[in-house]
Amino acid sequence: MEITKNNRKWLDSLGLSHPVVIAGPCSAESEEQVLKTAHELKKTDTNIFRAGIWKPRTRPGGFEGVGEKGLPWLQKVREETGFKVTTEVGNADHVEKALKYDVDILWIGARTTVNPFAVQEIADALKGVDKPVLVKNPVNPDLALWLGGVERIKAAGISQLGVIHRGFSSYKSLNYRNKPKWQIAIELKKEFPDLPLILDPSHICGRRDTILDVTQTALDLNYDGFMIETHIDPDNAWSDAKQQITPGRLSEITEELVIRKESSSKETFQQKLDIYRSDLDILDNKLVGLLKNRMDISELIGALKREENVAILQSSRWEEILTSMVDEANKKGLNKEFISEIFKAIHVESIKIQHETK
Ligand code: PEP
Ligand code: MN
Repeated sequence: MEITKNNRKWLDSLGLSHPVVIAGPCSAESEEQVLKTAHELKKTDTNIFRAGIWKPRTRPGGFEGVGEKGLPWLQKVREETGFKVTTEVGNADHVEKALKYDVDILWIGARTTVNPFAVQEIADALKGVDKPVLVKNPVNPDLALWLGGVERIKAAGISQLGVIHRGFSSYKSLNYRNKPKWQIAIELKKEFPDLPLILDPSHICGRRDTILDVTQTALDLNYDGFMIETHIDPDNAWSDAKQQITPGRLSEITEELVIRKESSSKETFQQKLDIYRSDLDILDNKLVGLLKNRMDISELIGALKREENVAILQSSRWEEILTSMVDEANKKGLNKEFISEIFKAIHVESIKIQHETK
């Protein structure tokens, strides 16, 4: 991995190279697993060691983390390897305990960023504390929640702030565990240009074989670093086994990554494609929202016509709509037949809804 200079903000003052590499297991399982992983990671480009001490599981019954007893293991990692150490905090009690054991960097998980009360509780517990804090994106694709999380922590006086992009969940996703939706991270970066932006490809991919590609896309987008879940025995990990990689594989990945200079404006095909696709996703969502609004109004019109005993189909009004929309499309350079077909389909549905209106 070629190291180039970049805008590293407070990461610089911690002496962290660009891109910053955060690695370590999804969960701390035992002292031996934590220390063995950390020592293996010494042979890689890692500079911050991660391990989940408290694990917020979506459903009960899974491994929920070893809790406070794992914090001395992180201290040992720091002593023996010199890594900075980081863990996730989900409430004020976690913050208090992480501070008691002097964890270097705290992060707020995706299931916490969704909840303003929880983020505020953490922010209050962090008042007067001088530690870096990283805010993961919320599980759902809501930029405002992510911005709000950052703002709450910022307002608590934390100056060493960063964000982690770990993707967004959806009901069924074919290629990703959590879709990257790069556009949201780019929008966040526009609002907070000075915040280091770190990619978590492990939770985006949910599998091992696509981590390299997704990380490369992030580096092409000038991200400041990445957090990759790494385990000495990934297949037998107590959480997120499918996506964890060995320290050896991490070395191969960082060797293969191409770090682009900030001044380079070259965009890769995949990067452009991903941005265009997320633009399309946003527009498609808007289209569906607009159609819903339109059908809601058809329903109101249906009720009104029924009350007044007026016929549903008013041909002249319909002709007017069609002509004016086809004209509009023509002015914008859109294909007339295409727009005409779409409006015919909308009209059919609208009449159906008016018929069904009680
Ligand atoms: C994790 O980093 O192990 C984790 C729980 O991540 P997220 O909050 O992104 O799901
Ligand atoms: Mn995990």
